[in-house]
Amino acid sequence: MVGKVLGERADLRSKVKELSGVINAVVAEVNSLSLQEQKAIVEKNWPETQKKHEAEEKKLSPLPNADKYHVITTRFSPNPDCVLHLGSARAIVLSHEYARMYNGKFIIRFEDTDPKTKKPQLQFYDAIREDLKWLGCKWDEEYIQSDRLEIYYEIVGKMISDGNAYVCECNPEEFRKATLAKQACPCRNMTHAEQTGRWQKMLAGGYQEGQAVVRVKTELDHPNPAIRDWPALRIIDTKKYPHPRVGSKYFLWPLYNLAAGIDDHLMGMTHIIRGKEHYTNMVRQKYMYQHLGWEYPEAIHYGRLKITGAALSKSKIVAGIKEGDFADFDDPRLGTFQALRKRGITPEAIKKVIVDVGVKPNDVTLSWETLNSYNRKILDATSDRYFFVAQPVELKVTAVPKSLHVVLPFHPDKPRQGREYNLTPDNGELRLWISGNDADAMQAGQTIRLMELFNIQIAEKASNGVTAIYASESYEDVRKSKVQLIQWIPKGKEYSAQVVQQDASVSEGYAEQYCKKLKPDQIIQFERYGFVRIDGVGEKLKAYYAQK
Ligand SMILES: [Zn+2]
Repeated sequence: MVGKVLGERADLRSKVKELSGVINAVVAEVNSLSLQEQKAIVEKNWPETQKKHEAEEKKLSPLPNADKYHVITTRFSPNPDCVLHLGSARAIVLSHEYARMYNGKFIIRFEDTDPKTKKPQLQFYDAIREDLKWLGCKWDEEYIQSDRLEIYYEIVGKMISDGNAYVCECNPEEFRKATLAKQACPCRNMTHAEQTGRWQKMLAGGYQEGQAVVRVKTELDHPNPAIRDWPALRIIDTKKYPHPRVGSKYFLWPLYNLAAGIDDHLMGMTHIIRGKEHYTNMVRQKYMYQHLGWEYPEAIHYGRLKITGAALSKSKIVAGIKEGDFADFDDPRLGTFQALRKRGITPEAIKKVIVDVGVKPNDVTLSWETLNSYNRKILDATSDRYFFVAQPVELKVTAVPKSLHVVLPFHPDKPRQGREYNLTPDNGELRLWISGNDADAMQAGQTIRLMELFNIQIAEKASNGVTAIYASESYEDVRKSKVQLIQWIPKGKEYSAQVVQQDASVSEGYAEQYCKKLKPDQIIQFERYGFVRIDGVGEKLKAYYAQK
């Protein structure tokens, strides 16, 4: 309580003793009331606090038919052809949170079965694992589809043998014509022996890429032609397009619906939580489930999560890096988790945004402001404060009457711990660094307060700095006239620093020498400047600007 009050009322810091007496009495009085009485007082006097509290408690709505299943099982299934970005956050966070909410199982499954057009890359398997760990979404089981090809072949073999799938040799144009006319292609109604022969030929490598495809039977008059007899397994020339994990060992590769559909059943998926663009895939897969006598899991489809002003599509990200528009996957202008992490967005903020949005079929557009406001709540409570002056300008204060010892608290909640400075005037003169912006805004005759130090009156602005006269020490003297409070750094105690901005430009300045002790990835607040994430400390401090 003492810390909170002092944080909001800096002027009371000299009266800590009296204050703690008053606070103790009030706390004792509140503690003597029943919980109901306490709630009633809050509701009556601060209704907005109550509402805010309720909003913070927001939980996910229950899953459909949850009690039908023994172990609630969900999955996240990325293609390791790129790093993850904010667009994946919904699938990851919702699937993980639901599994946790029901004490169930969360599975990660790498869907890496297209070595030709959506070619996976080895580096991204690990990058994705790292992204999930950073998000705090631990998985209970991991699968890689390129390890499971023979499982898919076996089930395809069964479907062909049962007459529920067939090897089609038609060229795409022929097949399309037949399908649009709601008619069977010549392959569909072949005898069991003919189809088994084709399947053996396919397994033995008797077809070239493009010469044959396995199709799963559906109703030929399904209203959506794209559903009719969908393709399930095709040939890829892996001599030409080797897979990063299994090279040229396999040439039969499942298409999305076959592999995902089979795995969801075999892995015991109970709830599939995914984007609504997958709705027709569900319709396709349900035919296969029917053929195999399986029960389709509960499927929940949500809308897209867009964020204004961030490049979110994989192709744009990859192309931008290739062309040199972005430095790498962690370029601060991108919406990748690597970039968000680098610029100080916390995983807690991302999770909270997603849970608050919940599962809705409509598209949701988030702004950086929304994400930042979630992030600020988390950072504000935990980040230590320091001073930073960008484009520093020298400030000479004259007529300082005495030496001063100041403690600048790391955080309003810990008023007794902080950065300490002994300032000894030389002939009444103190020299400090202030920011270029503050210096620019000053006018001769104006009164300014140096934060936590003393008040000054500006005497003169010159090209080589600003001169001011010591006015008084107490904040109380100037509080009512609402003077500007500015940060400062004693000359000689500065530490060169650069802050990478969100547009990738760099701002130079001085931070306090205390910043030398910071650790990489620590997020701090430069007062009156913003939150920054420490990237490295060395000759110079390097930080990434996070947000206001
Ligand atoms: Zn055919």
